[in-house]
Amino acid sequence: MKSYEAPGVVVSFDAEVCQHAGICVRGLPRVFDTTARPWIQPANATVDDVVSQVEMCPSGALSVQVTDGGDRQP
Ligand code: SF4
Repeated sequence: MKSYEAPGVVVSFDAEVCQHAGICVRGLPRVFDTTARPWIQPANATVDDVVSQVEMCPSGALSVQVTDGGDRQP
């Protein structure tokens, strides 16, 4: 499990659970880009967009935590 942090949000990714369906990459390519390092860059979208995309992950490989400093989440 690896974590990727940006202001207001932390995305975690478990490569062993990922089904490589590519839903994250297609849905939010600015954040989920397998050609970039690191491949998850949560700062490239709003916290809301990152949370919405993570919730669409079918395998549960992605998880998200909204942290202090987030400007939009309840
Ligand atoms: S949406 Fe989830 S299962 Fe699909 S590629 Fe992304 S992390 Fe893997």
